[in-house]
Amino acid sequence: MKILVVNAGSSSLKYQLIDMQTEKVLAKGGCERIGIKGSLLKAKGNGLEKEYRQSMPNHKIAIELVLDALQDSEIGVIKSMDEIGAVGHRVVASGEYFKKPTLVTPEVLQTLEEKTFELAPLHNPAAATGLRACMEVMPKTPMALVFDTSFHATMPEKAYLYGINYDDYKNYGVRKYGAHGTSHKFVSGEAAKYLGKSPEELKIVTCHLGNGSSITAVDGGKCVDTSMGFTPLAGVLMGTRSGDIDASAVEFLAKKKGLSHSEVITYLNKQCGVAGISGVSSDFRDLCKGAKKGNERCALALEMFAYQTKKYIGAYAAAMGGLDCIVFTAGIGENTATVREDVCAGLEFLGVKFSSKANKAKNDGSVREISKSNSKVKVLVIPTNEELVIARETAALL
Ligand code: ADP
Repeated sequence: MKILVVNAGSSSLKYQLIDMQTEKVLAKGGCERIGIKGSLLKAKGNGLEKEYRQSMPNHKIAIELVLDALQDSEIGVIKSMDEIGAVGHRVVASGEYFKKPTLVTPEVLQTLEEKTFELAPLHNPAAATGLRACMEVMPKTPMALVFDTSFHATMPEKAYLYGINYDDYKNYGVRKYGAHGTSHKFVSGEAAKYLGKSPEELKIVTCHLGNGSSITAVDGGKCVDTSMGFTPLAGVLMGTRSGDIDASAVEFLAKKKGLSHSEVITYLNKQCGVAGISGVSSDFRDLCKGAKKGNERCALALEMFAYQTKKYIGAYAAAMGGLDCIVFTAGIGENTATVREDVCAGLEFLGVKFSSKANKAKNDGSVREISKSNSKVKVLVIPTNEELVIARETAALL
């Protein structure tokens, strides 16, 4: 069976067509500037790439164009739309309404649109727009929702509750939901495979470090805690997000800067993190270059990022009562060797013997072990593959 994975943003739509027999990507690409002048689809298939510069006033036209590209005479990989067994849609937030991947029914669509938008106002409406577009264009094809939060649904109450009035949690759903669940699920599973053990035997901390970063404690194959919270603003500082901050500072900053509460939240999401600390960039490549040239604030931003990540590893080892493996993944986790080294420095007391040499080896896209062979805690670099998880979950639902 072939599964189309769709990740819709407000003006973008990324896709992959995956053959579930081989788990190989047959075709992939993305539409940019949907609803904006200059729309563009970049599509790959059959080892070729093609650009479609065509007006895409809405997501329906975009998905129609994607289906055309999938059936194109040069880059096409299918003969007819009927070859697509199902579409798996990435959805950022589920709240407590969906605990697992779910096939779309009219009731599911209604819950998605009426209940979850306020939990991820930038992301979930875009996913619903992408979903509705696909439902219109492919009315007979099953649609599935795969949530970034699902993997975190196994967290116990003691981990996901905030210390607020319990009734407010019950009435308004204010609690930790986490993010990047498909990535944490994938890399923790791959780590177990690499180590030749069953996930049930392992205590793993997975560090998804990218523009958005989250760290998760995976005990026996299940998430028991994670660093992101009610929204993806929480946890370690990120590219432009502050990470955890005392809630009282929101009101204080609002007064001092003459902003509304929601403007302070936008500021904490968009103008803070390592970009705010360094004053240079949210991109870790720029920060590494800056620090090398002696820019102290770039160095400070990197130091804070590594320090905060390290603290989560320590906390989660304590929470799980042990640690067998640390996994690094995503843009920074897979590519920025100095961050991995700084995070692992000082973790010898936990049983980490880090190999600077192995850590410096080139990223060849495979699973890499960057701890010494006699290290009690294995440290691995594992390329994430969120699309494959979405495709697997969608196939499993059928
Ligand atoms: P997103 O959360 O947007 O998916 P990514 O996982 O792509 O983010 O991570 C982006 C971060 O990874 C940036 O800070 C970037 O500097 C860092 N990075 C470091 N080296 C590379 C590289 N070779 N390729 C891509 N990103 C890299």
